[in-house]
Amino acid sequence: MKGDDWPSPQEDEDEFSSALHQRTEELYRIPNTEPDENGWITCAVLPLRDLVVFPHMVSPIFISPGPSLLSIQEAQFNVQTVIALTQKDPEIDEPGLEDFLPVGVEMAVGRLLSLPDGNNSALVQGRRRVEVIDFPQKEPFIIVRCRPIDEPNDVDHEVDALMRASRDLFQRCVQLDRSLPDEAHLYSINISEPGWLADMITTAISLPLKERQTLLMLPDPIERLKRVNWLLAQELDVLQLEDEIQTKVQTEVDHSQREFYLREQMKAIQTELGEGDIWSREIAELKVKIEAAQLPGEALAAAGKEMERLTQMPAMTPEVGIIRTYLDWILELPWVNSTEDNLDVRHAADILEQYHYGLGKVKDRILEYIAVKSLNPKKSKQPILCFVGAPGTGKTSLGRSISEALGRKFVRLSLGGVRDEAEIRGHRRTYIGALPGRLLQTMRRAGTVNPLFMLDEIDKLGADFRGDPGAALLEVLDPEQNFAFSDHYLELAYDLSKVLFITTANSINNIPPALLDRMELIEFAGYIEEEKIEIARRFLIYRQLEECGLEPYEIEFLDQALRKIIREYTYEAGVRNLEREIGRICRKVARLKSEKKRYPTRVGAAFVEKFLGPPQFFTTEAEGQDEIGVATAIAWTENGGEIMPVEILVLEGKGNLQITGQVGEVMQESAQAALSYLKSRARQFDLSPDIFERLDVHIHIPEGAIPKDGPSAGITIATALISAFTEREIYKDVGMTGEITLRGRILPVGGVREKILAAHRAGLKTILLPERNVKDLIDVPKKVLTDLKIIPVTHMDQVINVAIHPPTEKPHRQRKGNAKSDGAEKEEELADKEE
Ligand code: ADP
Repeated sequence: MKGDDWPSPQEDEDEFSSALHQRTEELYRIPNTEPDENGWITCAVLPLRDLVVFPHMVSPIFISPGPSLLSIQEAQFNVQTVIALTQKDPEIDEPGLEDFLPVGVEMAVGRLLSLPDGNNSALVQGRRRVEVIDFPQKEPFIIVRCRPIDEPNDVDHEVDALMRASRDLFQRCVQLDRSLPDEAHLYSINISEPGWLADMITTAISLPLKERQTLLMLPDPIERLKRVNWLLAQELDVLQLEDEIQTKVQTEVDHSQREFYLREQMKAIQTELGEGDIWSREIAELKVKIEAAQLPGEALAAAGKEMERLTQMPAMTPEVGIIRTYLDWILELPWVNSTEDNLDVRHAADILEQYHYGLGKVKDRILEYIAVKSLNPKKSKQPILCFVGAPGTGKTSLGRSISEALGRKFVRLSLGGVRDEAEIRGHRRTYIGALPGRLLQTMRRAGTVNPLFMLDEIDKLGADFRGDPGAALLEVLDPEQNFAFSDHYLELAYDLSKVLFITTANSINNIPPALLDRMELIEFAGYIEEEKIEIARRFLIYRQLEECGLEPYEIEFLDQALRKIIREYTYEAGVRNLEREIGRICRKVARLKSEKKRYPTRVGAAFVEKFLGPPQFFTTEAEGQDEIGVATAIAWTENGGEIMPVEILVLEGKGNLQITGQVGEVMQESAQAALSYLKSRARQFDLSPDIFERLDVHIHIPEGAIPKDGPSAGITIATALISAFTEREIYKDVGMTGEITLRGRILPVGGVREKILAAHRAGLKTILLPERNVKDLIDVPKKVLTDLKIIPVTHMDQVINVAIHPPTEKPHRQRKGNAKSDGAEKEEELADKEE
């Protein structure tokens, strides 16, 4: 005998449900068995093997002929209930009386229906739990004596909460479990007794037989519901997990089915178009390329491995693209291809001369380099050259000429703003869109293993949390290491030892020291006006005319025009802007010519203004009037030399010192030193000792946007201070540079050549230079030295004598103790006038 689903629905559903209804009605009509005086009832037994029925539940059962059928027939004959007793162990075939659970369920059995297989089926309805007392009859069917168990049905808050929780959990189970009908939850809502609710849920959800038996034997309804609640939570977990798995599996199946379908379609389309073999043909071609590429061992092995992977992949896998890009990189990088060096020094000298004017020292050094290489080709450890100089001084173009002289390929890589090591070394292939670093990208462009490789702006390298690109460069420039440069993308050692590296920088200040140590510095100082005119004449004009499609003999630039461009339209140490302005004039002429208008064949100063508009720069600094508190420093910047006015104002106050104009720490200290020097010499300058407490000093160094630092403005600040306090004017055409000590001694400074050139460019007449810098004048063109009066100085006293007007009558301030300087009064007057 065993429980099963409802009998299969008959064809007409309405008929079926009304028959069902009828049968259920019949069940309800059977009364509970009356108890005797002991409160016991005596009934026939319906033995159940692997089925547990619960009170209130209606379910169909199957009954095979034998004692069970006899029991039921007996009960029906007497219009009585039966007691369902479940076997403890369903495996036992012929159970004895001791094999039944001690708790059973009294139930009503409906009309018997005979089935074609000789069995019967009936609907049963559980009524109440009973506890077995004894068995008065065993044959031909069992009769049991038992006591009905009464269940208390009080519902307090706690029980109510428990019931709600159970209903809630049950509702979620119903939602997830497809085998439970949605109405099951509705049914649970309508049950108000805890025991019944527990039994109802127990019947609905899937539980092991043992668990059902335990629940049957729990007489306390609250305990029962608590256990059901706990079982529901577990069931819900399982159902949720099942649901997740189901959804995932479904998605995967959908995805792979879709892919399969698309691939099949693609195949069909390719076959239809006759392209089915393209993939295999491409693979074959790649193989041939790899074989022909003469790759060195390691690269060949890597390519072979990737090729192997590629062959095993369907053409459409995304991985294919990644592998192909990698193979392309291996194939396109130069591994063996090289050019033969032309180490003929005279040939090299010719070429350098042919394209560059001046730069004698630089050219000499390069020819020495080539000479050493030609005499000792195996000596590969020559120092790396670093060209240092302002923009437009010919560093790059000289590098290009060297490559031409040697017969090597020329490539450049700008390091300006490179902050990430990965920019040099690339990203690992696991990153999407990864590529080799810029170094190998540039090598690919070179196409040979021994190009002349210019690393530009090595002083503009950055470093941050993404790693230090300088460290990667150290490896690149170190002959001990660079034969096996490692790139993250390539993951193969790449030999850079045959490359001729030349680096360039505007200033050595910002080159990482470890890099600086490995390089030999070659300075490209700026050009003076005469040199610029010469360069323009020999190279720039010719090149620009050619670019504009004009014949070199067509247009002549007069010296006065070039001079005007240099003085009034450019302000630079190099010739880059000069070339640009010449280019602008050439384009304007070209336009006139192509419009068939009249155009000048000789460009003079007047045409310059006509073509380029009003002048951009004025040599004002050296002109104008001598002033109190304004001295001219000559400074060094990355763009070459500059002249830099230092302005000082003294105002009524409390002896404070203020410095403005983006001034660095060293320059501030140098201003303090200058002030201390002046204080210590107050008597010499006829200043009353309390004057420094009564006045505030404001030092300003204009051109605010440019950061300024260094000690070399020391004597200029001191000069301006003395002038401001003594109210003696400073000569406008005197420029100076030098560090000052507290005792007024003057110390040497750097960048002398650039500074002197800048002073010359700005039209200064007299330069005060620390005596120990006189040796540096050897690098300054003769023409400049004859134009300028250069006075070597060792002490501040000498500076004062040359730069400041001699004292006249007793200064205003000292007579009256008035705090205003002449300069301040003048400015106020001017402001008044403007208003
Ligand atoms: P840098 O690399 O120093 O910034 P470039 O090499 O780009 O400067 O030079 C700028 C332009 O000036 C180029 O066209 C270059 O040919 C020209 N030039 C600079 N110096 C000279 C020189 N001594 N002789 C001829 N041309 C020069």
